[in-house]
Amino acid sequence: MSIQTLAEQGKIDSQSSAVPSSTFEQDSFNQYVMSTYARFPLALERGQGCRVWDTEGREYLDFVAGIATCTLGHAHPALVETITRQIQKLHHVSNLYYIPEQGELAKWLVQHSCADRAFFCNSGAEANEAAIKLARKYAHTVLEIDKPIILTANASFHGRTLATVTATGQPKYQKNFEPLVPGFQHVPYNDIGALEAAIGELDEGDYRVAAILLEPLQGEGGVRPGEIAYFEKVRQICNDIGILLIFDEVQVGMGRSGKLWGYEHLGVEPDIFTSAKGLGGGIPMGAMMSKSFCDVFQPGDHASTFGGNPFASAVALTVCQTLERENLLQNVEARGEQLRVGLQAIATKYSHQIAEVRGWGLINGMELQADTQITAADVVNAAMDEGLLLVPAGPKVVRFVPPLIVTEAEVDVALQAVEKVMKVRS
Ligand SMILES: *Cc1c(COP(=O)(O)O)cnc(C)c1O
Repeated sequence: MSIQTLAEQGKIDSQSSAVPSSTFEQDSFNQYVMSTYARFPLALERGQGCRVWDTEGREYLDFVAGIATCTLGHAHPALVETITRQIQKLHHVSNLYYIPEQGELAKWLVQHSCADRAFFCNSGAEANEAAIKLARKYAHTVLEIDKPIILTANASFHGRTLATVTATGQPKYQKNFEPLVPGFQHVPYNDIGALEAAIGELDEGDYRVAAILLEPLQGEGGVRPGEIAYFEKVRQICNDIGILLIFDEVQVGMGRSGKLWGYEHLGVEPDIFTSAKGLGGGIPMGAMMSKSFCDVFQPGDHASTFGGNPFASAVALTVCQTLERENLLQNVEARGEQLRVGLQAIATKYSHQIAEVRGWGLINGMELQADTQITAADVVNAAMDEGLLLVPAGPKVVRFVPPLIVTEAEVDVALQAVEKVMKVRS
C-alpha cells in the first residue's frame, strides 16, 4: 500500500491537501527567527492522524510525532473536543487558585503510577529542574548533606536549562555555556561497577551523593534501553545508602514503551520521576511525580506561572483517558513488534550498513554500522524524499517514534520506505 492509497482511505478530504493554503518563505523565516535549529527544508501546515502535509500540499507519514510527543497523532477528535470546550470555558488563572482539571490529572497520574503526588510545569527540562530541586531539598533537610551530588549517565539527555544541560551527559550540549551548575557527576550507563566506584570516591571528598538520575531508556543518546540487572542493582544501592532514585520518563513515559512508564520494563520503582513530551499530546505540559516520603516541597519552594493551567491539564487528562479507552498500550506493543521485526529483516539484508535494531514499544532505533559512510541524517533525508518523516538520535542512530495510534498499514508503508532508502544506498 502506498502513502497515496492511505490518504485515499482516510476520512479527510485528500483533495484539499493538493492546494497549498499559504506560501512559505524560508529566507524570511531565517531573517527573523534565531538559528538555534538546523532545520530540514520542510514547512508543515496540516496534520491528520499519522499524516502531515507541507505547504506545497505534499503528504508525509509522520514517524517523528513532534519528537515522541503527539501521542494521539494530529487532530484527534478527543483532543479537538477537549481543546475547543476548555478554551471556551477557562484556559488560565494561575496557581493562586485551585484548578479542578489539575487535580483530576494528578489523581489519574498517581493512580496509574508508583508516585503519590504531582507538580506540573510546561516542559521536560522544567520537570527535571523540579526533580533536581526536590532532591537537593531532600538532601539538605532529610539527609543532612551540605554539598549534594546528583549522579547521571554518560550519553543521557535531560534538557537545555543550565541545571539540566549540566545533568545531561553529553559535552556537545555544554560547550561555551560554562560555568556549569555544580553538583552533578556523570557515570557510564548500564555499568554498575563504574557507579559503585564513583559513589566510593565521593564518600572521601566534601561532596556526597544524594540522588541518581537516569532515563529508563536513553532516547536522544541513541535509543539505548536500560538493563534490568543494572537497574535492580541501582535501586538496591539507593535503598542501602538512603539516597533518591530519579527517573527521567520525559521521552519513554506515557505509553510510548508499550507500558505506561519505562520503569515497568525494569522491575524497579523510582522515588521521583518526570514526564513531559507525550503527556500533553503536543500541548506544552510537564510533570514531576514523587513518592510522599520525599515530597519535601512547601508553599513558596517552587512554582510555575503556566504550570498545570486548566487548558493544559484538561488536554493531558484527555490524552491519559484516551490511552486507556482506546487500549493504546496494546497497539503500541503490537505495532512496535511489527516495526522491529520489519526493521530487523531490513537490517539482516543490509547488514553491511545496519548494525542493530533496538527499542521498546514505539521508541525504536536503527543503528548504522560505524564504518559506513552514511549517517542517520542521510537516511532521514532520503526517507523524507520517500514521504516518511524520521528523526536521528545521534550521528548513527535513526529513531522511529510515531504517534501511538499508528496502524498496521502505516507501519508497513514506513518499512517499505526504509527498505527503499537502504536499497538505493547499498
Ligand atoms: C526531550 C527530553 C527532555 C527535555 O524536554 P524539553 O521539553 O525539551 O525541555 C528531557 N529529558 C528527556 C529524556 C528528553 O527526551
